[in-house]
Amino acid sequence: MEKILAVNAGSSSLKFQLLLMPLEKVITEGLIEKIGSEQAIYTIKYEGEKHKKILPVCDHAKAVSILLEDIIKRNIVSSLEEIKGIGHRIVQGGWYFQDSALIDEDVLNKIEELSTLAPLHNPAHIVGIKAFQAVLPNTKAVAVFDTSFHQTMKQDTFMYATPYEWYTKHKIRKYGAHGTSHKYVSMLCAEVMGKKSEDLKIITCHLGNGASIAAVKGGVCIDTSMGLTPLEGIPMGTRSGNIDPAVIEFISEKENLGIQEILSILNHKSGYLGVSGVSNDSREIEDGALAGNERCNLALEIQFKRIADYIGSYYVSMSGLDALVFTAGIGENSSYAREKICERLSVLGVELDEEANKSRGEVKLISKPESKVKVYIIPTNEELMIARDVIRLTK
Ligand code: AMP
Repeated sequence: MEKILAVNAGSSSLKFQLLLMPLEKVITEGLIEKIGSEQAIYTIKYEGEKHKKILPVCDHAKAVSILLEDIIKRNIVSSLEEIKGIGHRIVQGGWYFQDSALIDEDVLNKIEELSTLAPLHNPAHIVGIKAFQAVLPNTKAVAVFDTSFHQTMKQDTFMYATPYEWYTKHKIRKYGAHGTSHKYVSMLCAEVMGKKSEDLKIITCHLGNGASIAAVKGGVCIDTSMGLTPLEGIPMGTRSGNIDPAVIEFISEKENLGIQEILSILNHKSGYLGVSGVSNDSREIEDGALAGNERCNLALEIQFKRIADYIGSYYVSMSGLDALVFTAGIGENSSYAREKICERLSVLGVELDEEANKSRGEVKLISKPESKVKVYIIPTNEELMIARDVIRLTK
Protein backbone atom coordinates (compact mmCIF):
# COMPACT_ATOMS: atom_id res chain seq x y z
CA MET A 1 0.00 0.00 0.00
CA GLU A 2 1.22 3.48 -0.84
CA LYS A 3 0.14 6.95 0.21
CA ILE A 4 -0.36 9.33 -2.71
CA LEU A 5 -1.15 13.02 -2.45
CA ALA A 6 -3.46 14.60 -5.05
CA VAL A 7 -3.04 18.38 -5.22
CA ASN A 8 -5.04 21.14 -6.88
CA ALA A 9 -3.25 24.47 -6.51
CA GLY A 10 -5.17 27.61 -7.43
CA SER A 11 -3.98 31.22 -7.36
CA SER A 12 -4.89 31.62 -3.67
CA SER A 13 -5.85 28.11 -2.66
CA LEU A 14 -4.47 24.62 -2.25
CA LYS A 15 -6.78 21.63 -2.24
CA PHE A 16 -5.45 18.22 -1.30
CA GLN A 17 -6.43 14.62 -0.80
CA LEU A 18 -4.22 11.85 0.58
CA LEU A 19 -5.18 8.45 -0.78
CA LEU A 20 -4.16 4.92 0.11
CA MET A 21 -3.42 3.14 -3.15
CA PRO A 22 -4.21 0.79 -4.75
CA LEU A 23 -7.00 0.47 -2.17
CA GLU A 24 -8.33 3.81 -3.48
CA LYS A 25 -9.27 4.91 0.03
CA VAL A 26 -9.23 8.57 1.06
CA ILE A 27 -7.14 8.98 4.22
CA THR A 28 -7.57 12.72 4.62
CA GLU A 29 -8.58 15.73 2.55
CA GLY A 30 -8.70 19.45 2.93
CA LEU A 31 -8.15 22.92 1.66
CA ILE A 32 -6.16 26.05 2.39
CA GLU A 33 -7.98 29.14 1.13
CA LYS A 34 -7.04 32.83 0.96
CA ILE A 35 -3.31 32.09 0.68
CA GLY A 36 -1.46 35.42 0.85
CA SER A 37 -3.64 36.76 3.63
CA GLU A 38 -3.33 37.10 7.39
CA GLN A 39 -6.63 35.26 7.68
CA ALA A 40 -6.18 32.21 5.53
CA ILE A 41 -8.57 29.32 6.20
CA TYR A 42 -7.17 25.84 6.69
CA THR A 43 -9.65 22.96 6.73
CA ILE A 44 -8.77 19.30 7.09
CA LYS A 45 -11.06 16.28 7.34
CA TYR A 46 -9.71 13.22 9.11
CA GLU A 47 -11.45 10.17 10.62
CA GLY A 48 -14.88 11.71 10.05
CA GLU A 49 -14.04 14.99 11.79
CA LYS A 50 -13.54 18.39 10.22
CA HIS A 51 -10.98 20.79 11.72
CA LYS A 52 -10.86 24.44 10.75
CA LYS A 53 -8.27 27.08 11.60
CA ILE A 54 -7.78 30.72 10.63
CA LEU A 55 -4.10 31.63 10.38
CA PRO A 56 -1.68 33.79 8.39
CA VAL A 57 -0.38 32.03 5.25
CA CYS A 58 1.93 34.30 3.24
CA ASP A 59 2.42 32.06 0.19
CA HIS A 60 2.06 28.55 -1.26
CA ALA A 61 5.35 27.39 0.26
CA LYS A 62 3.97 28.25 3.69
CA ALA A 63 0.67 26.51 2.87
CA VAL A 64 2.57 23.34 1.91
CA SER A 65 4.63 23.38 5.12
CA ILE A 66 1.50 23.93 7.25
CA LEU A 67 -0.22 20.99 5.58
CA LEU A 68 2.77 18.63 5.84
CA GLU A 69 3.53 19.54 9.45
CA ASP A 70 -0.13 19.05 10.36
CA ILE A 71 -0.46 15.59 8.83
CA ILE A 72 2.62 14.51 10.83
CA LYS A 73 1.27 16.11 14.02
CA ARG A 74 -2.04 14.32 13.58
CA ASN A 75 -0.21 11.01 12.98
CA ILE A 76 -1.76 10.72 9.54
CA VAL A 77 1.75 9.92 8.33
CA SER A 78 4.69 9.19 10.64
CA SER A 79 7.22 10.75 8.25
CA LEU A 80 7.06 12.54 4.90
CA GLU A 81 8.85 9.60 3.24
CA GLU A 82 5.55 7.75 3.51
CA ILE A 83 4.18 9.96 0.72
CA LYS A 84 5.27 7.96 -2.30
CA GLY A 85 4.06 10.30 -5.01
CA ILE A 86 2.28 13.57 -5.67
CA GLY A 87 -0.20 14.26 -8.46
CA HIS A 88 -0.85 17.84 -9.52
CA ARG A 89 -3.99 18.85 -11.37
CA ILE A 90 -3.07 21.14 -14.28
CA VAL A 91 -5.80 23.03 -16.13
CA GLN A 92 -4.02 23.58 -19.45
CA GLY A 93 -1.80 20.96 -21.11
CA GLY A 94 -2.30 22.45 -24.58
CA TRP A 95 -1.05 20.47 -27.58
CA TYR A 96 1.88 19.01 -25.63
CA PHE A 97 0.19 16.51 -23.36
CA GLN A 98 -2.04 13.68 -24.55
CA ASP A 99 -1.49 11.96 -21.23
CA SER A 100 -0.37 12.76 -17.71
CA ALA A 101 3.38 13.23 -17.36
CA LEU A 102 6.12 12.68 -14.79
CA ILE A 103 7.25 16.17 -13.82
CA ASP A 104 10.78 17.17 -14.82
CA GLU A 105 12.37 20.43 -16.00
CA ASP A 106 10.99 20.02 -19.52
CA VAL A 107 7.41 19.38 -18.35
CA LEU A 108 7.61 22.38 -16.00
CA ASN A 109 8.80 24.61 -18.86
CA LYS A 110 5.93 23.47 -21.05
CA ILE A 111 3.35 24.12 -18.31
CA GLU A 112 4.87 27.57 -17.97
CA GLU A 113 4.77 28.18 -21.73
CA LEU A 114 1.09 27.23 -21.74
CA SER A 115 0.33 29.93 -19.17
CA THR A 116 -0.63 32.24 -22.05
CA LEU A 117 -3.67 29.98 -22.56
CA ALA A 118 -4.52 29.68 -18.85
CA PRO A 119 -3.12 32.82 -17.19
CA LEU A 120 -5.07 32.33 -13.96
CA HIS A 121 -4.35 28.64 -13.52
CA ASN A 122 -1.03 27.39 -14.91
CA PRO A 123 1.17 29.90 -13.03
CA ALA A 124 -0.56 28.90 -9.78
CA HIS A 125 0.02 25.20 -10.57
CA ILE A 126 3.74 25.89 -11.08
CA VAL A 127 3.94 27.67 -7.73
CA GLY A 128 2.25 24.63 -6.15
CA ILE A 129 4.59 22.14 -7.83
CA LYS A 130 7.69 24.11 -6.77
CA ALA A 131 6.45 24.48 -3.20
CA PHE A 132 6.19 20.67 -2.89
CA GLN A 133 9.51 20.13 -4.70
CA ALA A 134 11.24 22.34 -2.14
CA VAL A 135 10.07 20.20 0.79
CA LEU A 136 9.95 16.79 -0.89
CA PRO A 137 12.73 16.96 -3.52
CA ASN A 138 12.98 13.18 -3.93
CA THR A 139 9.26 12.43 -4.17
CA LYS A 140 8.11 11.74 -7.71
CA ALA A 141 5.45 14.10 -8.98
CA VAL A 142 3.02 13.74 -11.88
CA ALA A 143 1.12 16.41 -13.80
CA VAL A 144 -2.46 15.43 -14.69
CA PHE A 145 -3.94 17.71 -17.33
CA ASP A 146 -7.60 18.70 -17.63
CA THR A 147 -7.14 18.87 -21.39
CA SER A 148 -5.43 15.52 -22.12
CA PHE A 149 -8.59 13.48 -22.55
CA HIS A 150 -9.81 15.91 -25.22
CA GLN A 151 -6.65 15.67 -27.33
CA THR A 152 -8.27 12.92 -29.40
CA MET A 153 -10.67 15.44 -31.00
CA LYS A 154 -10.22 15.62 -34.77
CA GLN A 155 -9.10 18.81 -36.49
CA ASP A 156 -12.56 19.56 -37.92
CA THR A 157 -13.82 19.57 -34.33
CA PHE A 158 -11.07 21.38 -32.45
CA MET A 159 -10.52 24.10 -35.09
CA TYR A 160 -12.47 27.35 -35.18
CA ALA A 161 -13.37 28.79 -38.58
CA THR A 162 -11.12 31.78 -37.96
CA PRO A 163 -8.02 32.70 -40.02
CA TYR A 164 -5.77 29.64 -40.16
CA GLU A 165 -2.79 31.73 -38.98
CA TRP A 166 -4.52 32.25 -35.63
CA TYR A 167 -4.09 28.51 -35.17
CA THR A 168 -0.55 28.16 -36.52
CA LYS A 169 0.82 31.34 -34.90
CA HIS A 170 -1.15 31.46 -31.66
CA LYS A 171 -2.54 27.93 -31.24
CA ILE A 172 -6.11 29.23 -31.09
CA ARG A 173 -8.32 26.11 -31.01
CA LYS A 174 -10.58 24.14 -28.71
CA TYR A 175 -8.80 22.38 -25.84
CA GLY A 176 -11.74 21.58 -23.56
CA ALA A 177 -11.67 21.15 -19.78
CA HIS A 178 -12.84 18.76 -17.01
CA GLY A 179 -11.10 16.00 -19.00
CA THR A 180 -10.13 14.01 -15.91
CA SER A 181 -13.77 13.95 -14.82
CA HIS A 182 -15.17 13.06 -18.26
CA LYS A 183 -12.63 10.24 -18.56
CA TYR A 184 -13.35 8.88 -15.09
CA VAL A 185 -17.14 8.81 -15.38
CA SER A 186 -17.12 7.44 -18.94
CA MET A 187 -14.80 4.59 -17.89
CA LEU A 188 -16.89 3.84 -14.82
CA CYS A 189 -20.05 3.96 -16.93
CA ALA A 190 -18.68 1.21 -19.22
CA GLU A 191 -17.72 -0.83 -16.14
CA VAL A 192 -21.17 -0.42 -14.58
CA MET A 193 -22.79 -1.44 -17.87
CA GLY A 194 -20.55 -4.53 -17.98
CA LYS A 195 -19.31 -3.55 -21.44
CA LYS A 196 -16.04 -2.51 -23.04
CA SER A 197 -15.53 1.25 -23.54
CA GLU A 198 -14.56 0.49 -27.15
CA ASP A 199 -18.10 -0.70 -27.85
CA LEU A 200 -19.93 2.29 -26.36
CA LYS A 201 -21.16 5.75 -27.30
CA ILE A 202 -21.45 7.85 -24.14
CA ILE A 203 -22.27 11.49 -23.46
CA THR A 204 -20.97 12.77 -20.12
CA CYS A 205 -22.52 15.88 -18.57
CA HIS A 206 -20.24 17.44 -15.94
CA LEU A 207 -22.66 19.93 -14.41
CA GLY A 208 -21.14 21.88 -11.55
CA ASN A 209 -20.51 25.57 -11.05
CA GLY A 210 -18.37 25.13 -14.16
CA ALA A 211 -20.07 22.82 -16.64
CA SER A 212 -19.14 20.94 -19.78
CA ILE A 213 -20.34 18.07 -21.91
CA ALA A 214 -18.27 15.47 -23.75
CA ALA A 215 -18.97 12.92 -26.46
CA VAL A 216 -17.02 9.74 -25.79
CA LYS A 217 -17.00 7.15 -28.56
CA GLY A 218 -15.09 3.90 -28.19
CA GLY A 219 -13.46 5.22 -25.01
CA VAL A 220 -12.03 8.38 -26.59
CA CYS A 221 -13.31 11.93 -26.56
CA ILE A 222 -14.53 13.09 -29.96
CA ASP A 223 -16.01 16.44 -28.91
CA THR A 224 -16.51 18.62 -25.86
CA SER A 225 -18.33 21.86 -25.17
CA MET A 226 -15.56 24.00 -23.62
CA GLY A 227 -13.10 25.65 -25.96
CA LEU A 228 -9.90 27.64 -25.87
CA THR A 229 -11.05 28.63 -22.39
CA PRO A 230 -13.79 27.39 -20.06
CA LEU A 231 -16.07 30.21 -21.24
CA GLU A 232 -17.31 28.34 -24.31
CA GLY A 233 -20.21 25.92 -24.23
CA ILE A 234 -23.30 25.80 -22.05
CA PRO A 235 -24.27 28.56 -19.59
CA MET A 236 -22.92 27.92 -16.07
CA GLY A 237 -23.13 29.38 -12.55
CA THR A 238 -21.52 32.67 -13.58
CA ARG A 239 -20.32 32.05 -17.16
CA SER A 240 -22.40 32.85 -20.21
CA GLY A 241 -21.28 29.96 -22.40
CA ASN A 242 -21.66 30.62 -26.15
CA ILE A 243 -22.79 34.03 -27.32
CA ASP A 244 -22.52 35.89 -30.61
CA PRO A 245 -19.00 37.40 -30.48
CA ALA A 246 -20.43 40.63 -31.96
CA VAL A 247 -22.17 41.23 -28.61
CA ILE A 248 -18.78 42.30 -27.23
CA GLU A 249 -18.41 45.35 -29.49
CA PHE A 250 -22.10 46.19 -29.20
CA ILE A 251 -22.15 46.22 -25.39
CA SER A 252 -18.76 47.94 -25.28
CA GLU A 253 -20.29 50.94 -27.06
CA LYS A 254 -23.62 50.90 -25.24
CA GLU A 255 -22.18 50.56 -21.73
CA ASN A 256 -18.78 52.13 -22.33
CA LEU A 257 -16.89 49.03 -21.21
CA GLY A 258 -13.47 47.67 -22.22
CA ILE A 259 -12.87 44.14 -23.51
CA GLN A 260 -11.39 43.02 -20.17
CA GLU A 261 -14.42 44.29 -18.28
CA ILE A 262 -16.83 42.59 -20.68
CA LEU A 263 -14.95 39.30 -20.47
CA SER A 264 -14.99 39.56 -16.71
CA ILE A 265 -18.78 39.98 -16.84
CA LEU A 266 -19.11 37.02 -19.21
CA ASN A 267 -16.99 34.91 -16.84
CA HIS A 268 -18.17 36.09 -13.43
CA LYS A 269 -21.54 37.81 -13.72
CA SER A 270 -23.42 35.87 -16.36
CA GLY A 271 -24.99 32.41 -16.44
CA TYR A 272 -27.41 31.64 -13.59
CA LEU A 273 -26.28 34.75 -11.72
CA GLY A 274 -26.64 37.13 -14.66
CA VAL A 275 -30.01 35.91 -15.87
CA SER A 276 -31.64 35.42 -12.45
CA GLY A 277 -30.01 38.32 -10.60
CA VAL A 278 -30.31 36.00 -7.57
CA SER A 279 -27.37 33.60 -7.27
CA ASN A 280 -24.83 31.41 -9.05
CA ASP A 281 -25.86 28.46 -6.88
CA SER A 282 -28.23 26.03 -8.54
CA ARG A 283 -29.98 25.23 -5.26
CA GLU A 284 -31.02 28.85 -4.80
CA ILE A 285 -32.02 29.12 -8.45
CA GLU A 286 -34.13 25.95 -8.21
CA ASP A 287 -35.76 27.15 -4.99
CA GLY A 288 -36.47 30.50 -6.66
CA ALA A 289 -37.95 28.86 -9.75
CA LEU A 290 -40.17 26.58 -7.65
CA ALA A 291 -41.35 29.62 -5.64
CA GLY A 292 -42.43 31.32 -8.88
CA ASN A 293 -39.43 33.55 -9.65
CA GLU A 294 -39.58 33.75 -13.45
CA ARG A 295 -36.01 34.85 -13.96
CA CYS A 296 -34.73 31.91 -11.90
CA ASN A 297 -36.85 29.63 -14.03
CA LEU A 298 -35.55 31.27 -17.20
CA ALA A 299 -31.90 30.90 -16.06
CA LEU A 300 -32.49 27.16 -15.69
CA GLU A 301 -34.47 26.74 -18.91
CA ILE A 302 -31.82 28.55 -20.97
CA GLN A 303 -29.21 26.17 -19.61
CA PHE A 304 -31.33 23.01 -19.94
CA LYS A 305 -32.19 23.86 -23.56
CA ARG A 306 -28.55 24.33 -24.50
CA ILE A 307 -27.51 21.14 -22.72
CA ALA A 308 -30.16 19.23 -24.68
CA ASP A 309 -28.96 20.89 -27.91
CA TYR A 310 -25.38 19.75 -27.27
CA ILE A 311 -26.59 16.23 -26.53
CA GLY A 312 -28.57 16.21 -29.78
CA SER A 313 -25.55 17.42 -31.69
CA TYR A 314 -23.28 14.76 -30.16
CA TYR A 315 -25.90 12.11 -30.88
CA VAL A 316 -25.50 13.03 -34.54
CA SER A 317 -21.67 13.13 -34.32
CA MET A 318 -21.56 9.65 -32.79
CA SER A 319 -24.43 8.23 -34.90
CA GLY A 320 -26.25 7.15 -31.78
CA LEU A 321 -26.02 7.01 -28.02
CA ASP A 322 -25.83 4.14 -25.53
CA ALA A 323 -25.56 6.04 -22.27
CA LEU A 324 -25.96 9.51 -20.83
CA VAL A 325 -24.06 10.27 -17.62
CA PHE A 326 -24.74 13.05 -15.11
CA THR A 327 -21.94 14.09 -12.77
CA ALA A 328 -20.54 16.95 -10.56
CA GLY A 329 -22.50 19.06 -8.04
CA ILE A 330 -25.65 19.59 -10.08
CA GLY A 331 -25.46 16.40 -12.15
CA GLU A 332 -25.07 14.22 -9.06
CA ASN A 333 -27.55 16.00 -6.82
CA SER A 334 -30.27 17.76 -8.74
CA SER A 335 -33.11 15.43 -9.73
CA TYR A 336 -34.90 18.54 -11.05
CA ALA A 337 -32.12 19.38 -13.55
CA ARG A 338 -31.85 15.75 -14.71
CA GLU A 339 -35.61 15.47 -15.16
CA LYS A 340 -35.93 18.72 -17.09
CA ILE A 341 -32.97 17.94 -19.36
CA CYS A 342 -34.17 14.40 -20.06
CA GLU A 343 -37.69 15.65 -20.85
CA ARG A 344 -36.15 17.47 -23.79
CA LEU A 345 -34.50 14.25 -25.00
CA SER A 346 -37.53 12.00 -25.45
CA VAL A 347 -37.04 12.12 -29.25
CA LEU A 348 -33.75 10.24 -28.71
CA GLY A 349 -35.55 7.52 -26.76
CA VAL A 350 -34.51 8.77 -23.31
CA GLU A 351 -37.02 7.70 -20.64
CA LEU A 352 -36.22 8.62 -17.08
CA ASP A 353 -37.44 6.55 -14.13
CA GLU A 354 -38.99 9.11 -11.78
CA GLU A 355 -38.37 7.07 -8.64
CA ALA A 356 -34.75 6.19 -9.46
CA ASN A 357 -34.08 9.81 -10.38
CA LYS A 358 -34.68 10.80 -6.75
CA SER A 359 -31.22 9.33 -5.94
CA ARG A 360 -28.28 11.59 -5.25
CA GLY A 361 -24.54 11.24 -5.13
CA GLU A 362 -24.34 7.50 -5.84
CA VAL A 363 -23.77 5.41 -8.94
CA LYS A 364 -27.28 4.71 -10.17
CA LEU A 365 -29.14 3.74 -13.32
CA ILE A 366 -32.01 6.25 -13.50
CA SER A 367 -33.64 5.38 -16.84
CA LYS A 368 -36.57 3.03 -17.33
CA PRO A 369 -35.75 -0.49 -18.54
CA GLU A 370 -37.33 0.30 -21.92
CA SER A 371 -35.33 3.51 -22.40
CA LYS A 372 -33.25 3.27 -25.60
CA VAL A 373 -30.53 5.30 -23.93
CA LYS A 374 -29.36 4.28 -20.44
CA VAL A 375 -29.10 7.25 -18.08
CA TYR A 376 -26.76 7.16 -15.08
CA ILE A 377 -25.73 9.28 -12.13
CA ILE A 378 -22.00 8.69 -11.66
CA PRO A 379 -20.23 10.77 -8.99
CA THR A 380 -16.97 12.08 -10.34
CA ASN A 381 -13.65 11.54 -8.59
CA GLU A 382 -10.85 13.59 -10.12
CA GLU A 383 -8.51 13.03 -7.16
CA LEU A 384 -8.76 9.27 -7.59
CA MET A 385 -7.89 9.57 -11.29
CA ILE A 386 -4.89 11.71 -10.33
CA ALA A 387 -3.72 9.15 -7.75
CA ARG A 388 -4.15 6.32 -10.27
CA ASP A 389 -2.01 8.21 -12.79
CA VAL A 390 0.68 8.80 -10.17
CA ILE A 391 0.83 5.05 -9.54
CA ARG A 392 0.82 4.24 -13.28
CA LEU A 393 3.57 6.70 -14.17
CA THR A 394 5.88 6.21 -11.21
CA LYS A 395 6.15 2.42 -11.41
P1 AMP B 1 -19.36 21.68 -8.21
O1 AMP B 1 -18.76 22.81 -8.99
O2 AMP B 1 -19.24 20.35 -8.90
O3 AMP B 1 -18.93 21.64 -6.77
O4 AMP B 1 -20.95 21.96 -8.16
C1 AMP B 1 -21.48 23.11 -7.57
C2 AMP B 1 -22.94 23.23 -7.95
O5 AMP B 1 -23.64 22.05 -7.54
C3 AMP B 1 -23.64 24.42 -7.29
O6 AMP B 1 -24.43 25.11 -8.24
C4 AMP B 1 -24.51 23.72 -6.25
O7 AMP B 1 -25.66 24.47 -5.98
C5 AMP B 1 -24.86 22.43 -6.96
N1 AMP B 1 -25.43 21.46 -6.02
C6 AMP B 1 -24.83 20.85 -4.99
N2 AMP B 1 -25.74 20.11 -4.32
C7 AMP B 1 -26.92 20.28 -4.93
C8 AMP B 1 -28.26 19.80 -4.73
N3 AMP B 1 -28.52 18.99 -3.71
N4 AMP B 1 -29.22 20.18 -5.59
C9 AMP B 1 -28.97 21.01 -6.60
N5 AMP B 1 -27.74 21.49 -6.85
C10 AMP B 1 -26.73 21.14 -6.03
